[in-house]
Parts: sequence; C-alpha cells; structure tokens
Amino acid sequence: MVDTIQKSVTVLGATGSVGQSTLDLISRNRNKFNVLALTAYSRVEELAKAAISFNAQLAVIGDESKLGTLKALLAGTGVEAAAGDEALIEAAARPSDIVMAAIVGAAGLRPTMAAVRRGATVALANKECLVCAGDLLMAEVAEHGATLLPVDSEHNAIYQVFDFGAAKAVDRLILTASGGPFLGRSRHDLLDVTPAQAVAHPNWDMGAKISVDSATMMNKGLEVIEAFHLFPVSKDQIEVLVHPQSVIHSMVEYQDGSVLAQLGSPDMRTPIAYSLAWPERMEAPVKRLSLAEIGSLTFQAPDYEAFRCLALAKEALDAGGAAPAVLNAANEVAVGGFLSGQIGFMDIPALVEETLAQIDMKAPQSLTNVFEIDQEARRLAGLQLESRKK
Ligand code: NAD
Ligand code: MG
Repeated sequence: MVDTIQKSVTVLGATGSVGQSTLDLISRNRNKFNVLALTAYSRVEELAKAAISFNAQLAVIGDESKLGTLKALLAGTGVEAAAGDEALIEAAARPSDIVMAAIVGAAGLRPTMAAVRRGATVALANKECLVCAGDLLMAEVAEHGATLLPVDSEHNAIYQVFDFGAAKAVDRLILTASGGPFLGRSRHDLLDVTPAQAVAHPNWDMGAKISVDSATMMNKGLEVIEAFHLFPVSKDQIEVLVHPQSVIHSMVEYQDGSVLAQLGSPDMRTPIAYSLAWPERMEAPVKRLSLAEIGSLTFQAPDYEAFRCLALAKEALDAGGAAPAVLNAANEVAVGGFLSGQIGFMDIPALVEETLAQIDMKAPQSLTNVFEIDQEARRLAGLQLESRKK
C-alpha cells in the first residue's frame, strides 16, 4: 500500500554531508516524502542532478556566477532555477512541511530564519545559527510557532530524553564528545598537524569545516552554546564528557539521580530520520548497535589546555553579548585559513582569542546587528590571518 499523505521537504545545503544523508533517506522513502526545493553553494552539477531525480520544484545555487550553468542543466525539466542570497531565502520561505537547515556556517542564518518565520518545522543541523543568533532565533521560533528539531547528534539525543514537562527536575546535560582525531595529544604535539590529518575523523564522516572544528574541539564548544539555546537549562548545567566511541550521543541527569541517554551507531541518518519522521519514527539503514561487539565504553574529562577552543567557546557563552557571534566568525575565518594551508592548527585558537579580545560590541538586537558583528569579526580575524601566514 502506498501512503497518500506525503510531507514536502526543502533541503538547504543539499550537496553537503548532512544534505546528502537527508536525500538518501528521502530516496528510500519516496512514498513518505517529496522534495520542494534544494539549495547548494557551488556544486551545480550535483545540485541539478538531485533536483531532477527528486523532481524538485526549485533549485537554488548560492554562487550567482553559476546560474547560467544551472539553467542549462535544468532546461526542459520543469525545475525552476535561481541563484544568490535572496533566492536561498526564497527557497526556505516556500511552504514545505519540513526544512532541513544544513548549510554550514553563519551563511545559513537568513534562510533558516526565513523558514522559522513562516512557522515551519525546521530540522536544524546548522548549529552556527544558534551560536551567532541564539536569542533572536529562539524568540522568532516562539513568536511564529515554528518547531525546531535538533539534528546535531548530541542535541537530538538530549531532545529524545529531555522531559520538557519536568524541566525543573533536570540537573545536568552531559554532552559527549569523541575528542576528535587528536585526542590525547598535548599542545606541543598539535603544532604540526595537517589539514588532511585534521579532517580524518575517527567516527563520523562530515564536511571539512565541522571536521576541523571536531579536531580543535571548537565543535563541542559551539555545541555547548547550541544546547544552552535549545534547552531550558542554565550555562553551568551543561557539561562536556569525552567518550571516544561516540556510542552514547549525550545524556540528561535528573534530580532523583536518573541519567537518561540515547545510544546508537555513529551515523547521522539516525538523528536525520528522527527529524524527518517526527513525531513518528521511520526506518533508517544504519548499522545496529552491538554493545557486545564494541565491548567497552570509555570516558574522560576534556583537556581544556590542549583544546583551548572548547574553553574559548564556554567563555564566550559566559560573556554573552556579541561574544558568541564573534567567536563563530573568527573561527570560520581561522578554519578557512587552516584548510587552505595559510596558518597552522594552533593558530586557530590564537586567532579566535585575539579577535574576541579586540571586539567590544553590544548584544545583537536584530539580524542586521548579527551581521554587523559578524563582518567586523571577519575583518579583524582576516588581519590576524595575514599576520600569522606561514
Ligand atoms: P558540508 O560542508 O558537507 O556541506 C555544506 C552545505 O552548505 C553544502 O551543500 C554547501 O553547498 C552549502 N553552503 C556552503 N556555504 C554556503 C553559502 N555561503 N551559502 C549557501 N550554501 C552554502 O557541511 P556538513 O558537514 O553537511 O554540515 C552542515 C551543517 O550541519 C554544519 O553547520 C555542521 O556543523 C552541521 N552538522 C554536521 C554534521 C555532519 O555529520 N556532517 C553533524 C552535526 C552537525
Ligand atoms: Mg554534534
């Protein structure tokens, strides 16, 4: 029997790691989902191919110089082609049931906000949105009755075990961290690591930027800020625990001593499937967890000295105001500089710290303010980058 009720899905960042996993799940469940719009930044052939194969209404390429190519690839298919920032926003604003927000970085903020403002169900992978505009985004979610479903595996885990009806009984959120490819190394041992080593994550297959963030542990820092905005807890109730096997995806501790966790194989298709099917569940083609095969799970406290980015993110959350947006922008510049071989791995925390120290701006009251802070932080981080070039 074929279900007649389908949910329509828009995927922002369809050519990325999360975007591709989302399309993989949709392709296995064509009776449950149809695709409304797909977006990408530069991979125009992949975008066009996906738009045709999913029979999308609209395909948007961020890079405007590729509009001609996109139009040529889509000619005669009936799929609309568009390009540029406004078109990305327009894709998110079209009335799909679900928007998968899987653009990387602050670039995803305006499209994600457009989906929130029409009260959509937003599956949020793009954690940088909450880091640079958490208060604003959550206020708009409440105002427009949008539903925000966390896709990030830790936050998805917490979402699954967080009792929103008894939030006051929650004592702690325990965010687990794999520790990344350089777990156990000292500051000194990290000086010469290469981009290729940094993006080779032991457990997860992800985009380049988040892979470097995992290697510096900035990713976990961004996730602490993300958790603060997603769940009704205070800053000091969020803890980070290194758990190299990535089997326990995070935990919630209650005042009676109960600790609830969500476990599974490290495969993003589990939290993505959860978000697509919510409030129901759907089948996901992931390796089933065999604890007997894994044998033992281990845990340790994070090393805040070697992985200074984690401490910087926590400090930015404590400082509040513009600091989280500055942290995010400076980190995006630093990671870009590291990936292109311009600076070393340990320049990443140094550059972020320097930029944070140089900016004293007020908390953003609007998206315009967020982008003013973002631009100023990128400008100063760019100067830092120049002075640190190898
Ligand atoms: P990725 O680099 O593989 O893909 C990023 C996508 O965003 C691509 O489709 C790209 O075309 C698009 N994009 C990049 N810059 C853009 C711009 N300026 N304008 C419009 N589109 C742009 O990244 P990813 O690993 O899929 O991660 C996406 C987001 O999900 C990130 O915020 C990341 O932190 C988060 N996330 C990813 C994973 C994972 O397993 N990959 C896990 C948790 C959270
Ligand atoms: Mg995560």
